[in-house]
Amino acid sequence: MAFIPLSVPNVGAEETEKVAQAVTSSWVSTGGQLINDFEEAFASYLHMPRAVACNSGSSALHLAALVSGIQRGDEVIVPTLTFIAAVNPVTRYMGAEPVFIGCDDSLCIDPDAVEEFCFQYCEMRENGLYNKSTGARVRAMVVVHVFGNMADMERLMKIAHRYGLLVIEDATEALGTRYTQGAYEGKYAGTIGDVGCFSFNGNKIITTGAGGMVVSNHPDWAEHAKHLSTQAKADVLQFLHDEVGYNYRMTNLQAAMGLCQLAKLEKFIATKEENYDHYKRALDGVRGMKILPFREGTRSNKWFYSLYLPEGVDRDGLMEALNQRQIQTRPIWALIHQQCDYGRNAAYALARALDYRKRIINIPCSTNLTAEECGRVITAILDLVPNKE
Ligand SMILES: *Cc1c(COP(=O)(O)O)cnc(C)c1O
Repeated sequence: MAFIPLSVPNVGAEETEKVAQAVTSSWVSTGGQLINDFEEAFASYLHMPRAVACNSGSSALHLAALVSGIQRGDEVIVPTLTFIAAVNPVTRYMGAEPVFIGCDDSLCIDPDAVEEFCFQYCEMRENGLYNKSTGARVRAMVVVHVFGNMADMERLMKIAHRYGLLVIEDATEALGTRYTQGAYEGKYAGTIGDVGCFSFNGNKIITTGAGGMVVSNHPDWAEHAKHLSTQAKADVLQFLHDEVGYNYRMTNLQAAMGLCQLAKLEKFIATKEENYDHYKRALDGVRGMKILPFREGTRSNKWFYSLYLPEGVDRDGLMEALNQRQIQTRPIWALIHQQCDYGRNAAYALARALDYRKRIINIPCSTNLTAEECGRVITAILDLVPNKE
């Protein structure tokens, strides 16, 4: 029986050919026309003026934090139910402290809890929001569009405006997700806040092997991100640097792959949708299981599917049994406020995040997953999850 992986790259002859052309041209490193072409195609897809390519989603997030002007000692509101790269680069790398917030039923940061934190525990001063108990400035909020779901941007942006918070969007999992209704109709995840970040890691909806992108509604922020990603070189010939920069650049080889992958994005989303519908028809509401929905009024890229298990099912036992049938799954992330040294940071409104952490597994969702494979996953789950009736 063939192994069914959770989420793997989907690359073909186009990528092979384009990367080979780049190799033949000798433009294999961090300069080259394909990098500009990929940035332009990406910006144009998102209806943004500029996109800045970099070597990972994590470095995109670090660049976003740097151009936002997060200062040592600042506090940043972050979700606790997320991948750790949404938190480390915008807090610890910057010498800033996170304030952790639980999730709503989209698995994204809970706007009620963000509002409550700002209202109850903070005060507005002349130049911004301050935490009453720590005295620190609360400068920004990180919104992660979890598994391709759109966070509640209408509510979150209102709160951000009311309290003068910068908004960093981690859209690493949500390339292609957009509003189809409401105040942000037509707007893509990552293009609504002050700065947005994307990832092209191997498990994401499109991949360049590894890579990332930064977009911003402030044109000078995007330029600044580009500058910082290239060692902040002010004079290329003389090697003059006007601030501390980084080598966060994408290579021309990665950009070659990115161009081909971006051209396939809509096709990939269509496959994600078909397989999601297949799982939903077969499993949602069956034996107390749920296939979690994506936000209404949006077109989600449906990057990851969440199977919410009924009370009492042994999550890790189920994953192991599926693994024995050559089906790869994974639990949702361990909460960040319980990891590293984040235990000393404040965390609010955790009940839902704790429950989802216990009961969600992600099931195979590659963009080359076939209907037959989907069927095999469904059969295995129905075999293994007990019928209580
Ligand atoms: C993948 C991911 C990142 C980091 O991207 P890399 O390209 O792996 O560095 C950050 N945040 C979230 C939510 C992610 O899923």
